[in-house]
Amino acid sequence: MRRPFVAGNWKMHGSRTENAELIEALLLGVPGQTTTEIVVCPTFVHLWEIGRLLKASNVSLGAQSVCAEAVGAFTGEVSAAMLKDVGCRYVIVGHSERRAIYKEDDALVARKFLAVKAQGMIPILCVGESLDERERRTTNQIVTRQLSAVLDLAGVEAFGEAIVAYEPVWAIGTGKNASPEQAQEVHAHIRSVVEARDAKIAARLRILYGGSVKGSNAREIFAMADVDGGLIGGASLKADEFLKICAAVQVH
Ligand code: PEP
Repeated sequence: MRRPFVAGNWKMHGSRTENAELIEALLLGVPGQTTTEIVVCPTFVHLWEIGRLLKASNVSLGAQSVCAEAVGAFTGEVSAAMLKDVGCRYVIVGHSERRAIYKEDDALVARKFLAVKAQGMIPILCVGESLDERERRTTNQIVTRQLSAVLDLAGVEAFGEAIVAYEPVWAIGTGKNASPEQAQEVHAHIRSVVEARDAKIAARLRILYGGSVKGSNAREIFAMADVDGGLIGGASLKADEFLKICAAVQVH
């Protein structure tokens, strides 16, 4: 049995006041006894303040990215130790916006994954294909490559405490989600790639779907056998919508 997981990626949105209001509205609606693990990932400058508002709640704090280096002259970067120090438990690595806009390649993503693990935090590793790659029927090949880069560097044991998020690039922020069957097919493939290295770790690994999940489509996607929750962008900026999504996750 895998504990369901939903993370909100707030990206570069909201003022301090708006995000504090968002978290207050969210906390009012989160059931006290939920079995679902809920995480919010604000931008770096809001982490400390949001983390304080989350204290004594059952919602965890995550960051959207991290520097692969531990310390030093890396202007503008934020280390894993700093994220841990402000209360982060999770860190997203390899989000497609980081890969596409900031040219983060598989090797760098793998180093970031390791940096997060080295601080005892839990990486949320994003993988997924572009529209062109899907149309060329190379989805499994792309996802295998992205995943293998991390497995090779960090070792499969590192996935004993890690989350993988399948996020087809063509579905992120486009309003065009993968069908439940498309998501299931890739999730099963991701699990099989890990299973080839360690069956027990693969069986326990939580694999999230991300890409235009809304309150109205979450339940059918989360019903699929290998979909253990979601990584939510746009819909995580509205408390009621995010809560609907959290209520739709299912235990597999
Ligand atoms: C994301 O940014 O990770 C994401 C899934 O965005 P959206 O839900 O808006 O498609």
